Amino acid sequence: MTEKFVVTGGAGYIGSHVCVELASAGHDVLVIDDFSNSHPEAVRRIQEITGVDISLLEVDLANPANLPKVIESVGAFDATGAVHLAGLKAVGESVEQPARYYDVNINAALTLLRALENAGAKKLVFSSSATVYGDLNESPVNETGATGAANPYGRSKLFIEEILKDIATADKDWRIANLRYFNPVGAHSSGRIGEDPNGVPNNLFPFIAQVAVGKRDKLRIFGDDYPTRDGTGVRDYIHVVDLARGHVAALDYLAETKQGGAIDINLGTGGGVSVKEAVAAFKRASNRDIPFEIAPRREGDIAEIYADTSLAKDLLNWRATKTLDDMCADHWHWQRNNPNGFKS
Ligand code: UDP
Repeated sequence: MTEKFVVTGGAGYIGSHVCVELASAGHDVLVIDDFSNSHPEAVRRIQEITGVDISLLEVDLANPANLPKVIESVGAFDATGAVHLAGLKAVGESVEQPARYYDVNINAALTLLRALENAGAKKLVFSSSATVYGDLNESPVNETGATGAANPYGRSKLFIEEILKDIATADKDWRIANLRYFNPVGAHSSGRIGEDPNGVPNNLFPFIAQVAVGKRDKLRIFGDDYPTRDGTGVRDYIHVVDLARGHVAALDYLAETKQGGAIDINLGTGGGVSVKEAVAAFKRASNRDIPFEIAPRREGDIAEIYADTSLAKDLLNWRATKTLDDMCADHWHWQRNNPNGFKS
């Protein structure tokens, strides 16, 4: 059945891939984005890839003054549900500017909730993160694991999850999935959309990709004395297209389930990859040298985390299908074709 989904942050890295999968599955999409950390060109390319028209509302969702406009547009679009990705996401910045992070991330979520409520579209997928698990669990970590994020960014995700649970408890019509992403990497196989970080990348893959393409001299590996197989940090990297398909699967599940409520679901591959393994794989895929040096541990980093993915398999009938080599090949394809991101 064709549905009408609002995708906030739909021009961003994950959002653009979610839009492609939703549009390819035959759904109508309204992107809400203020382009504060994304580019209008991404929306054009979503349409280029899918051949489908995407509606767009350019607005800052976090500014309460925009509530009437958002309510009006979501109502006029006749939305049946939403994927909420809009928000600030830089961990280090969140430590320096906690009030801004809580203000933007929580107000954006509340504004969207009001607009969905008004439209009677009580179906929502929220972009959460494995960061909510902090350093409190053995891997593989499942959704009953202890939560306690280590920084304001992570806590804003956790707080929004909790807000959504309260809302789903108070009104049984709501169907909500908090998708806890592990580490999204890679890009669409077309090479037309991908991650376009502002300034120096914080995350491993965009940094490696910029070293491979010659934009940066070398990677700094943050610590090689962790209690892991080669001493470097282990994460569960997931191809962004697999991740995006997980959103479609979650929305299908929410459409079918008889039971209202808010549920937490991990989206990962279930396997761990070390920093050195990721570097080696990217080197193979790009056929470029990736010089690195060992640097001190990064504050707040944990040794190892990867997902228990059984709930996503059981409930959503979804699992990640792409390999680490696919992730590297697609990430490289995007980086090489768009060395300056959407500006090129
Ligand atoms: N990392 C690194 N150098 C970098 C960026 C990241 O060694 O320039 C390491 C980091 O310490 C961690 C892994 O790569 O072990 C993944 O880091 P990322 O920031 O991508 O994800 P997160 O730590 O948020 O899971």
